Parts: sequence; structure tokens; C-alpha cells
Amino acid sequence: MSLEQLPPLRQVIETHGLAARKSLGQNFLLDLNLTGKIARQAGDLTAHDVLEIGPGPGGLTRALLLEGARKVVAVEADARCLPALEEISAAAPDRLELHHGDALKLDPLPTLTAPVAVVANLPYNIGTELLVRWLTPANWPPKWDSLTLMFQREVAERIVATPGSKAYGRLAVLAQFRCEARICFELPPQAFSPPPKVTSAVVHITALPAPRFAANPKILSEVVARAFNQRRKMLRASLKGLLPDMAEVLTSIGIDPQRRAETVSLQEFCALAEAVQNARRAG
Ligand code: SAM
Repeated sequence: MSLEQLPPLRQVIETHGLAARKSLGQNFLLDLNLTGKIARQAGDLTAHDVLEIGPGPGGLTRALLLEGARKVVAVEADARCLPALEEISAAAPDRLELHHGDALKLDPLPTLTAPVAVVANLPYNIGTELLVRWLTPANWPPKWDSLTLMFQREVAERIVATPGSKAYGRLAVLAQFRCEARICFELPPQAFSPPPKVTSAVVHITALPAPRFAANPKILSEVVARAFNQRRKMLRASLKGLLPDMAEVLTSIGIDPQRRAETVSLQEFCALAEAVQNARRAG
């Protein structure tokens, strides 16, 4: 059987008894036109290995293969989905590699052959954690060229947010430091089975060859986490634990210590991370 001849996803779900489990963030996409649209946001995949987290009954997996992905490597936590995924694998010989496990513990990314694209309709409960991992590898550029990911709209907005907005925070700084990020389109709850409570959005993130501004990524992460952990406080208070003379360091790089995190640009956060590093070295 070819990929085109596989049964409709509703039938697959029925045949394999894949009643959705809330605990696994299971909101399935059953419309292959829609999964095709998501797969196409990743660009031409014919030369790419694709990492997919949470293939479920395989709607997006099929689309990725139909769009010509060289290979799809998928990690699924729910063993009930594996027989359905094996059927897809049989229809696309040698192009689908399945792993059963928790994507937070099992990471096949290092085994994929570059160029690599990550494409996933992520389970909402681990989506942010996976994104932060992909954005903060030890070396840059990362193993992947692009991430095409479905999130709750509110998370998508946090990734592309600009200073001064309520959504601006750690995710925006970490994403925009070394990547280009945009929201491709939104999906209403009815696009999923069962429908989630909120609107979703597909985000496309591409890795820049180098960071936009110089900064030690670990220190930047530390500064931003502290700054936004107490986002209503002035920087001199929220960042107090970083250095004994925080207010002085802020002033020395032209940042008023009375400002709040949400007014600080990416460039300023990078300058701040550099200043913290220099002050620590000097101290
Ligand atoms: N890709 C499918 C689709 O678009 O219809 C399913 C998406 S559903 C939102 C999330 C999927 O992630 C489910 O299949 C769920 O079982 C799986 N999942 C949940 N937690 C996981 C984890 N820790 N590791 C790997 N997969 C997980």
C-alpha cells in the first residue's frame, strides 16, 4: 500500500482504539489538507531529515512523507499509536524511523543527518520545555535548520513578542537572540479532535548562522530568567542576586536600574549579559 492509499485518520483511530488521552496532550489533526499545509511551512524537505515529536495516529507524519521528506524520525510516548505508525512506515519503506518513549528523555536529534528540520504538533505540556532545549544547545548553529511547531496561540505570541508587550519575556529573548521567528497561521479549536480549549498557532523558526548580538548564552539565559521571574520589579531589584553592584553595572551600560524587564530590548539584554560576565571575571 502506498501513502496515498492509507485509510482516513478517523478510521485509523477507530481501528487502533486511539481514544484521545488528555494526560498526553492528545488533540489530533485529522484533516490531511491541514497537515499538508503545516508540513509545507517547513519548506522543501526533500533533502532533509525531519524530527517529529508526538506523531500520534500519524496525520502530520504522513504529510511530511508525502511532501518528500528524506526521512522522518518520530518519538511517540503512547504505545497504542505504534501499530498505526508502523502502517505508515510500511507504506514509505526506510523513510520512517519510530521511537517509543518520552521526548524529554529520548532525543534522537544527534543521530539525524544534516540538514535537519524539526516539525511537530507538540503536546502542550512539554512544548515549551522542548523549545527551550532546541534554542539553547551548547554549540551554535544547532543541528537543526528550522523548527516548525504548533503551540497554543498564547505561547506562539510569546516567541515572537517585542519589548513593551505583555507577551515579551524569556521565550522571546531566547528565540530572537539566534533565530528568526514568525507565526505562520492560527488554527481554531475545531481543527483538532478532540478540540482543545484554546486557539493554536504554527510557528516557523529558522536558526541564524550566528547570534544577532554578542553574549554568552548561559549568562543571557540566567539574566533573562531572573529579570522576567519578577517582571513587575525594577531591574536593580529583580537582578540583585546576579552581582553585588548590579545597579552600577546597569548604569555603566546605559540601562536605568529603575526600568522593568519588559522594556529591555534584546540588544540591551545581550549587553547586560556581557557586562555581567566581565564584572564576574574582574571580581
Ligand atoms: N502529531 C499528531 C497530530 O498532529 O495529530 C498528534 C499531536 S498531539 C497534540 C501530541 C502527541 O504527542 C500525542 O500523540 C501524544 O501521545 C504525544 N506525546 C505526549 N507526551 C509526549 C512525550 N513526553 N514524548 C513524546 N510524545 C508525547
